[in-house]
Amino acid sequence: MKRDIPLDHLQFATRCVHGGVYKDPLYNSVVTPIYPSSTFYFEGPRQTSGYDYSRTKNPTRDALEENLASLEGGAGATAVATGMAAITTVLHLLPAGAHVVSGADIYGGTYRLFANVLPARGLRFSMVDMGDPAAVAAAIEPDTALIWIETPSNPLLRLTDIRAVCALARERGVLTCADNTFLSPYLQRPLEMGADLVVHSTTKYLNGHSDVVGGAIVSGTRELAEKVAATANALGTTCSPFDAWLVLRGVKTLPLRMQAHEKNAAALAQLLDAHPLVERVYYPGLSQHPGHELARRQQHGFGAMLSFELAGGEAAVFRLVERLKLYAFAESLGGVESLIEHPTSMSHAAMTPQAQADAGIGPGLVRVSAGIEDTQDLVDDMAQALAAIESGD
Ligand SMILES: *Cc1c(COP(=O)(O)O)cnc(C)c1O
Repeated sequence: MKRDIPLDHLQFATRCVHGGVYKDPLYNSVVTPIYPSSTFYFEGPRQTSGYDYSRTKNPTRDALEENLASLEGGAGATAVATGMAAITTVLHLLPAGAHVVSGADIYGGTYRLFANVLPARGLRFSMVDMGDPAAVAAAIEPDTALIWIETPSNPLLRLTDIRAVCALARERGVLTCADNTFLSPYLQRPLEMGADLVVHSTTKYLNGHSDVVGGAIVSGTRELAEKVAATANALGTTCSPFDAWLVLRGVKTLPLRMQAHEKNAAALAQLLDAHPLVERVYYPGLSQHPGHELARRQQHGFGAMLSFELAGGEAAVFRLVERLKLYAFAESLGGVESLIEHPTSMSHAAMTPQAQADAGIGPGLVRVSAGIEDTQDLVDDMAQALAAIESGD
């Protein structure tokens, strides 16, 4: 008897553990094997096992793709080499000369691709305030082919109303793609709210252990899923079976990790919000956050990314990170260990000073990815570092 678990009526956490994993018809391995073979032999003329070459299709990658499609509620997924490979693949679905509407405070690498690379390939971009659906509607032109949604945004945690933007895009015949990296499908599922495509940097929460870079594209329809898979195969953006295996292992504990991440972020946000050295905290879980009500409506939690403005600007930021013991001074996010970084000099350094200022990213801004360590340990470490700065140490 072969294991084949139909996922349709199972709850999210069950699908995390079982989605796509049983791919060993020989020995009944409970864990998906890694199939590193670049090529697969034909049984006869035009007769394959379903696999012929690993750039196109690979059993280990298939397992991850089935799992992610199920978690996002999509018709199909394609696992690729990095988050940027996912975004690059989606942008290659567009015709030459197409126009794209996106937010201004987006992931630094996405900004670099949209501002510096793709315009030379004939695509045009308008960066608007995605928090204002009227501004999005006003930016749509006859050639607009895609609206790019990233919510909560990076690094300021601004929210986009996914239902509102997707509804107006649909009315105008424009494709929508949401970068769901910051929340993961455990906390937000854009396809259920009308998006056509979702992309992930699986490097972050989906893998969750800071030991792989990867990406994925999940499509709402079979037709789009086939187009994405064919484009990824043509571009060569698909991921290795080893990386797919690591992400599949990570995804199994996604719900447990997200709960622990979020608990820690909420405790940190409270500490920071009450601290005299902190001018402003950006965390959708705080009731004064302008996106708080929207977050309650469209998310299943507030996530574990937060940022804050420290009094004293860049110098104070660098003193803070020097005094912290538990938070690694590093880019990236979504791993089990807590990280802290300085967007203007690190994750968002690809933006010009003017673009940073326009997006509201100032020199005193700090971004934190709350890990899954003990809550009190994280709060205590942040409190001692702030106290040291306050006392002029
Ligand atoms: C990290 C990240 C990306 C890019 O992913 P890579 O795996 O680093 O290529 C894209 N979008 C968001 C929101 C990210 O955090």
